[in-house]
Amino acid sequence: MTTETRLRIAMQKSGRLSDDTQNLFKRCGLNLNVSDRRLLAHVANMPIDVMRVRSSDIPGLVMDGVCDLGIVGDNTLEETALERELMGQKSQYIRTSALNFGGCRLSIAMPESFNYQGIKSLDGLRFATTYPQLLNRYAKANGINVEFCLLKGSVEVAPRVGLSDGICDLVSTGATLEANGLVEVEEIFKSKASLIQTSTPLCTEKQSILDTLLPRIQGVMKAKESKYIMLHAPKDKIAQVSALMPGKETPTILPLAGRDDLVAVHVVATETFFWETMEQLNALGCNSILVMPIEKMMG
Ligand code: ATP
Repeated sequence: MTTETRLRIAMQKSGRLSDDTQNLFKRCGLNLNVSDRRLLAHVANMPIDVMRVRSSDIPGLVMDGVCDLGIVGDNTLEETALERELMGQKSQYIRTSALNFGGCRLSIAMPESFNYQGIKSLDGLRFATTYPQLLNRYAKANGINVEFCLLKGSVEVAPRVGLSDGICDLVSTGATLEANGLVEVEEIFKSKASLIQTSTPLCTEKQSILDTLLPRIQGVMKAKESKYIMLHAPKDKIAQVSALMPGKETPTILPLAGRDDLVAVHVVATETFFWETMEQLNALGCNSILVMPIEKMMG
């Protein structure tokens, strides 16, 4: 296959999304060697090339059709789209699939000493942020005006050094905010990683590679959220045991060699299986309760 017919995917070279993205590719069966410094890494066993770049470059590369696909945070995607719209540049893309990693929120945070009385108390203030477009859209939608100072890193120190009144930054646990004496006052955007695709239709060869890859990506995500549960249950408690199983799947009931009183119950649980449920099952007389990760799922 020529370079023109190999599917080109952009991913973050290093940072918060790169390990999860690499792991996703690996679990999809892509044999990718990213240990060298090359910008373009070739997948050995599929006609796919992976372009390793800064996260902030990924939306533009996909929107301009340089890459066919990209894996990027919704925050970066939306900020770039707004910025490009403002500049009259091409900002179309297709969100092919939401992914289940990279979760965070873009929030406004103020110093602990600030007397926050609702969104209107932020009117006319100055915020340090990497996401001026998202901040501006939120401010406008809430009828306030804000100023911003653009920072690409260490946003949380800006109020302390007198650069801004508050910040608008990504938060996951809130520990960084707390360590810097800041309090989250408004959540303005919820984000996760997404697989995006160029809005230009792919050629037949590339579309057929994507048709193979996409069910694998979805299978990996479904497997990550699912668990395989196995246990031994008293035969006369099957109805109560089945009712305790999370998710909508019907359990498989199997006989146990040499035991008339017990059966084996197997089920794929697509919802969280809590310790409390295990304790309830135990109290019903179940034993050998195993909760196992699932590597791949299809169908
Ligand atoms: P790059 O340096 O590659 O242009 P970046 O500065 O946004 O991008 P990272 O800090 O690695 O790099 O963040 C990459 C993405 O990870 C973010 O855009 C966001 O979607 C996601 N993310 C998840 N949790 C957090 C968090 N707590 N803080 C920042 N980003 C997070």
